[in-house]
Amino acid sequence: MSGTIFTKIINREIPSNIIFEDEICIIIEDISPQAPLHYLAIPKKEIIGVSDLNDKDNVIISHLLLTIKKQMQSINVSDYRLVINNGSEAGQTVFHLHIHILANRTLGWPPG
Ligand code: AMP
Repeated sequence: MSGTIFTKIINREIPSNIIFEDEICIIIEDISPQAPLHYLAIPKKEIIGVSDLNDKDNVIISHLLLTIKKQMQSINVSDYRLVINNGSEAGQTVFHLHIHILANRTLGWPPG
């Protein structure tokens, strides 16, 4: 896998609004927000999608979820939706695993 736009953001080759970063992941603002709060939690490791996870990635996935929890707690947002689009038919457009974090509006169900 050669770097997607998210690797370029992680490597500071293109700008982004970075909300949080550590050695494993980055959280950025989505450039095309679908809710008043729309972040993307992205592992630094280049993983195409959920289908490409291996057993050793359990540390990364746990870390992503716990980081999201802490980040949202730190800004006092208790209600939010996490979305992962896996594959183009599911809506994935950037083929580097990421978790959408959507909040600050009422979110309908089922999603379209
Ligand atoms: P998905 O369609 O699930 O693959 O989500 C990709 C997301 O990346 C979309 O919500 C885009 O708006 C977002 N996106 C694409 N390019 C950028 C960028 N340069 N900075 C921030 N978000 C981006």
